[in-house]
Amino acid sequence: MQVLSTKSEFREHLETVRALGRTVGLVPTMGALHEGHLSLLRAAANDCDVVALTIFVNPLQFGAGEDLDAYPRPLERDLELAEEAGADVVFTPTTSEMYPGLTLTNVHVDRLTSSMEGASRPTHFDGVTTVVTKLFNIAGPCRAYFGEKDFQQLAVVRRMAADLDQPVEIVGCPIVRETDGLAMSSRNVYLASAEREAATVINRALRAGAAMIEAGESDPSVIEAHMASIIEAEPLAALDYAAVVNPESLLTPDHLVSGTTVRLLMVAQVGTPRLLDNLGVDVP
Ligand code: AMP
Repeated sequence: MQVLSTKSEFREHLETVRALGRTVGLVPTMGALHEGHLSLLRAAANDCDVVALTIFVNPLQFGAGEDLDAYPRPLERDLELAEEAGADVVFTPTTSEMYPGLTLTNVHVDRLTSSMEGASRPTHFDGVTTVVTKLFNIAGPCRAYFGEKDFQQLAVVRRMAADLDQPVEIVGCPIVRETDGLAMSSRNVYLASAEREAATVINRALRAGAAMIEAGESDPSVIEAHMASIIEAEPLAALDYAAVVNPESLLTPDHLVSGTTVRLLMVAQVGTPRLLDNLGVDVP
């Protein structure tokens, strides 16, 4: 496995790979790898000839007062895990390599970014779409693997790649969870033990919302209120949002329509971290 830290080395490496007729699977991450990230690497290894992992804690997607400085950066361990999971090349640029000077250009996706994460973190998605565009431009034509864990991000990146004709096929991968249902996240390390137990409330609330839909409830506001009430009953958790949305438009329908699929998205703060989770539900 090669570890490269300059844009030109990474670009040239993948150009050579493609010149040999081999396909590239790109897995963009901020490191602190866990089974969720490793599942993306394995999916890429299954579909593509060469797997390229990127590890970059992107300052542009952190708001003021967020955990940019505290974000875990266990690089040596990440490299070991990445190699075991099938990575062939890892791109680990510094901030000054990615952003050598003042950046005057920003990639913004409209509409899909205004609600939920976009409402809570107003500069977040522009930071994501800008860095992902830079990574796509450096990596060149490839398949890129993203987790459904960040469901809104996946929808935003898919739309960006389509709207801008980026030569990248976006592949969404299922959420990997701990055995008690908590979605794996690099930020779970911030949870103290009582908080770690309380954090399971998020997945329980999502499953309760899904059960209501399966029992025939079709009013999204009733389902959202029920999910919210489950979080509110947990003293260590503070609800940010509970939403029932169309998986493409990310808009909340007036009524759920039989035969369609909806996505339930939730965020709650437990101790320091905001924890994200979501679930797809078929409307009976
Ligand atoms: P991050 O390092 O948090 O920016 O995440 C990098 C990629 O891994 C994103 O596409 C995430 O959606 C994905 N990811 C993070 N956690 C999980 C998980 N528990 N299951 C599946 N994918 C995940």
